[in-house]
Order: sequence, then structure tokens, then C-alpha cells
Amino acid sequence: MTLRRAPTSRDVAEAAARQRRVVEEVLSRGVARYGCPCEWDRFVQWVGKEHPERSMDDWQNLLVRAAAGLPTFRIGPPARPEWWLQDEWLCVRCGARWKHYSEEWRMMAYRERLVREGRPAPAGRMEAPAVPGQALSPEAWAEFMLGEPSGT
Ligand SMILES: [Zn+2]
Repeated sequence: MTLRRAPTSRDVAEAAARQRRVVEEVLSRGVARYGCPCEWDRFVQWVGKEHPERSMDDWQNLLVRAAAGLPTFRIGPPARPEWWLQDEWLCVRCGARWKHYSEEWRMMAYRERLVREGRPAPAGRMEAPAVPGQALSPEAWAEFMLGEPSGT
């Protein structure tokens, strides 16, 4: 019988880097397919998810941060202040408007949320399948987002 060793900080850093790569890959494939992410239902729903108390979603945080780097978004200050509203995004390709919230829900821990205006994400509906008690694997998440096996 082999004992599983406890993860080291290096394992954790590698897993985080891998997760970020998967998010960037999924995002670029989705944008290649749809032209921009605004009509990509799973993107709209994942980035717009609300959270139960005391939880956050790394996938969502990474996806919102990666999307901020897309050339299709012009990002500007909010027209009207709102609690946790960070900035407003305009898609120069299709004209969709988004609101980006960044909530400090714990000291120095933020949950990012991106809400498409005029098309709120259904609350808590589309969760990728995860094995109970285990973190969502990058493969499962990518497959869910793209609706096909990821090949990464
Ligand atoms: Zn768009």
C-alpha cells in the first residue's frame, strides 16, 4: 500500500499554474468559436455565478481575470457607483455590456464576478460535474465549458 504524501507548496503552485493555463486555453478556444464570449452560454453563466456565503470559485476568478485581457473588451470606470462594482466592460465586437464586480469577501481574498447586462446568469444552475469530495479536475471543467473533450 502506498501512502499519498501531503501536497507540497510546489505541488500547489504547479496545480495553480496548470489551472491558469487551462482557463486561458478554454477561453481562447471559446472566443475562436464564438468570436467573442458574449454569446457563449457557459461563459456567461460561469463568470456570472453568485456564491453561497463563505465560498469562492477559483475557476470563476481566473476566467474573469483572463477575460479582462481579451482585446474585444474596452474596460472603463462604472457610470454609477455600486457596491463592489469595479469597472464596466464593453464588447467592441457585438456591443454587449458587462459589469465586473470584485468583492473582498475575506481579508485579501476576492471573488470576481462578471455580469452581462440585460441577461443575468441563472443563479446556481450550471455546475460542472465534479466527483463528490474532490476538486473539479481541469479536464472536467474544460470539457464542460466547451461541451467536448478538451485534449489538453
Ligand atoms: Zn461580444
